[in-house]
Amino acid sequence: MAFTCPHCGAIANTRTSRMMSAKLREARHQCSDLECGHTFATLTEVVRTLSPSAKPNPLVFIPYGKKAQPPDDRQLDLLADTAG
Ligand SMILES: [Zn+2]
Repeated sequence: MAFTCPHCGAIANTRTSRMMSAKLREARHQCSDLECGHTFATLTEVVRTLSPSAKPNPLVFIPYGKKAQPPDDRQLDLLADTAG
């Protein structure tokens, strides 16, 4: 993933990244403009759900966005009835 250099506006390429938690990743970037040479770190965080996962992790809470609809209990009951 590329990022824009905050100093000169050139593309800054991602050199390394690591997961800090299930929802948070830190990445290190290097500006592609050799005369700038800025290297910097960013944090990327999962902040809301747009469409729910079919394999939700019970240990992870991600709030729903305004347009996303969490599955309601009636839908889950219907799925359970048809599954078996
Ligand atoms: Zn730069």
